[in-house]
Amino acid sequence: MKNIRLIIIDMDGTLYDMADLIADGFDTAVAYMMEFYEFEKEDAIKTLNDNHIYPYVAADARSTTQFFLSRFIDIYHWDSYRSVHFGYPLIVKEKAMTEEMLKKLADIAPLVLLTNNTRINVSHVLNQIGVSEDIFTEIMCNENENKSPTKAVLMEKLMKEYDVRPEETLSIGDRFDVDAKPMIMLGGKALILKKPQYLNKFLQEIEDPRDCEEYQYYD
Ligand SMILES: [Mg+2]
Repeated sequence: MKNIRLIIIDMDGTLYDMADLIADGFDTAVAYMMEFYEFEKEDAIKTLNDNHIYPYVAADARSTTQFFLSRFIDIYHWDSYRSVHFGYPLIVKEKAMTEEMLKKLADIAPLVLLTNNTRINVSHVLNQIGVSEDIFTEIMCNENENKSPTKAVLMEKLMKEYDVRPEETLSIGDRFDVDAKPMIMLGGKALILKKPQYLNKFLQEIEDPRDCEEYQYYD
């Protein structure tokens, strides 16, 4: 079953450990609500918490951007604000995927970076973890795609672009709902890694990564 011909990889939480940035991201959301939507600090914190957004890792945690979208907040404005305030200096290189690890994936099939983050932040993150942009055949950011509601649309677009069938496509990410579910629904394969370093486990445990099963999970 050596048939993987396209690999799509997520950035936030996949290439680097998000845990170090969650508190900072939460503070950014609070500051944004105070500055542009006249929230008092306590109200902003409570509103976010009530909507499952926390300054720490939690099983029921939800996306701040999705929440803001549901409140009709101008998402381009929020994106530019969070780009400026993105805590990339907090990213710890030692807990991130290395170029060597990614090279092993790029040797198997074209490796596309697909992210909901902004293009400028992609450059910041890759620079911070010491990974060259050239490792990816393509970098696709949601901001350039008119805010598609899900990654599924973009995954399908990539399959067409690379002329591959779903069963020849592997999605690698850190969240089942965002990175695995849409790919499996399309008929493709998915690998969920709860820590960036777990990519090594996957690469070591499997003789040929192209033999990977429909769905694998490293927690
Ligand atoms: Mg992610």
